[in-house]
Amino acid sequence: MATIRMRYMVLSCPNCHTRLLKVPAGTTIIGSPLLQCKSCGRTYRTDLREEWYKYGQKWQLIGIPLIAAGVMLLVGALMENLAIGILAAALGFIIGLYITLKDVVRMIKSKKRMRSAAYLKQLLAYRAITPEDYERFMREAA
Ligand SMILES: [Zn+2]
Repeated sequence: MATIRMRYMVLSCPNCHTRLLKVPAGTTIIGSPLLQCKSCGRTYRTDLREEWYKYGQKWQLIGIPLIAAGVMLLVGALMENLAIGILAAALGFIIGLYITLKDVVRMIKSKKRMRSAAYLKQLLAYRAITPEDYERFMREAA
């Protein structure tokens, strides 16, 4: 099996240039776009993280497990063995879920974070959120 080599990008604090975050190149992860530098304590915004509602690949979270299950079911069907097909599909789903579970957890945390009015205000102040989205989420915030 081929191994996928990931390229990483290192993000540094714009204020003191301390290295803070290592993320796979060309991707955005679900997380707070506002980070606090551990070195100088200042908050800054990053484009490498976005809250769940902006994350473009939401379908993947459940889509990947379903596709994996579908492929495995097809393998079982080609082998003309329904029992193996179903078992393989279940295994495919679990493997798929294992891949996306981290992001599912990140999404749950993101939704939780965005229920805070104080946090939403901060997002707006750093222009990490549009005024329209701010209004929308404020209505749902506690
Ligand atoms: Zn800093």
